[in-house]
Amino acid sequence: MKVIDILKKDTLSMSFEVFPPKTDSAFESVRAATEEIAQLQPAFMSVTYGAGGGTSAYTLDIARNIKERHGVETLAHLTCVSSTRETVRQRIAELKAAGIENVMALRGDLTPEMEGQDRSGWAYRYAVDLIAELREHGFCLGGACYPEVHPESADQKTDIRHLKEKVEAGCQFLTTQMFFDNNLLYNFLYKIREAGITVPVVAGIMPITNAVQVERAIKLSGSHMPQRFKSLVDKFGSDPAAMKQAGIAYATDQIIDLFANNVTNVHVYSMNKPDVARQIQQNLSDILGK
Ligand code: FAD
Repeated sequence: MKVIDILKKDTLSMSFEVFPPKTDSAFESVRAATEEIAQLQPAFMSVTYGAGGGTSAYTLDIARNIKERHGVETLAHLTCVSSTRETVRQRIAELKAAGIENVMALRGDLTPEMEGQDRSGWAYRYAVDLIAELREHGFCLGGACYPEVHPESADQKTDIRHLKEKVEAGCQFLTTQMFFDNNLLYNFLYKIREAGITVPVVAGIMPITNAVQVERAIKLSGSHMPQRFKSLVDKFGSDPAAMKQAGIAYATDQIIDLFANNVTNVHVYSMNKPDVARQIQQNLSDILGK
């Protein structure tokens, strides 16, 4: 099933993200965690690629396993930064062979070495280059968007202009970077709709369940931490059980507010944590009808 058909339904949807193992030895434990999350029967599950996770083979193995064993639709991430045309074509063939219908087409982060290089000759400089190629192969394509502006962008207007190019190239839906203040998303949605971007936008929510994660999340995403969230970390950060409970409650509260404000599709960055995914789903059971 195509993810776009799930997102266009008239009902609320919640999906979960998992990441592949970095090593062979971690494969079984990651597979077990992703299967536990799949048992919750989310709207779909996405499996990340590369940075922070394992190789393309692991992404495919995990995605195929979730789909075949649990009947949950999967979205496989693919990045293209510094890839050759041959590598990307090989990945496309592997995705097809694994029966993957949905791909999140990304550029990937530039490493410090890449930043200093002349990138003009690269086959794929931006996600839009990958989207154009994947489109030919009939995948349902998603892309990333940034309510608080991508860190490399000069300003939001420029970032939205490039986002529109991705949609025009064939990106059928967008998933946002994590954010902790829903007003930033509402503002962003208003601006992109005004710019003529009409595809579904899936709101990305990261449940912060320990104090260490806070710093990592801010460093990675550059997201603004509202005072309400900072107070919560200050108060409960040194007590792991309390922090986890407070972080799940905060994410739940964000999701309820999004649903109440007609944002119908939410993607939870569940980070291979079945207990966190389960708790959030339970908190929303009547809202989601599950
Ligand atoms: P792009 O859309 O190419 O944008 C990158 C920058 O280039 C932006 O500033 C944009 O405004 C600018 N730009 C775009 N087109 C042009 C142009 N024609 N000319 C000049 N500037 C341009 N990373 C991973 O490694 N693996 C993952 O699985 C993964 N999953 C992610 C999922 C989501 C939902 C999100 C939000 C991010 C994810 N990332 C992942 C991180 C992502 O790879 C980085 O944020 C990366 O820096 C940008 O990727 P992009 O696809 O948004 O790039």
